[in-house]
Amino acid sequence: MRWAERASANLLPLSRAPTFTAALREWGYTGFCEDYQFPQAICQLCGQVDLRYHFRIRNRLTNHALLVGSECITRFGIEGDEEARRDRTALIRGARRREALGVLDRVARLTGGRFDFRDYYAENEGLTPKQMVTAIGICRRNRVSVGALPPVRLRRGREQRQMAAFTADERRMLWPFLSAAQRRAWAALDPDQGRPVADVLDE
Ligand SMILES: [Zn+2]
Repeated sequence: MRWAERASANLLPLSRAPTFTAALREWGYTGFCEDYQFPQAICQLCGQVDLRYHFRIRNRLTNHALLVGSECITRFGIEGDEEARRDRTALIRGARRREALGVLDRVARLTGGRFDFRDYYAENEGLTPKQMVTAIGICRRNRVSVGALPPVRLRRGREQRQMAAFTADERRMLWPFLSAAQRRAWAALDPDQGRPVADVLDE
């Protein structure tokens, strides 16, 4: 079944209007949203499973409510979907931050507090290249997943000098954690040092 068929089968019994498009206009975002941390929720509009985020919509006329996923909330002009979009961005940002802090917490505990980057990250929204390489090394040695590590900061001169002083191995470690823009900027800034790393990774 297509999305519209599934959605209208769920929506019409809870709405006044007889057609799907008209019925949708009766529904609005309530401002309630939730992050379940893991993919576990179901969209009550389209039936999509394994959702991590839920948004509540309510029908103004019948007062029925549905919990829908982050795709459905933005479809077909449900009222308040702009607000939902902003909430979604905030949810995802909050979730990433919690996960990053979780990994940094493990790094701190594994090293008896010697490498505790949590405060730095909380203040700067990222780690310096040096902190990042240290954190990656500790995670790898202790089989901690590096997927949730925070972003690298590479704007300031100090951060760029750290990168320039890295060995090829250290730069190779860091490279997958750089954004596309950071990789381009780095390669432009220091072609001799940026390119060999990119070449190695492309092989
Ligand atoms: Zn859905």
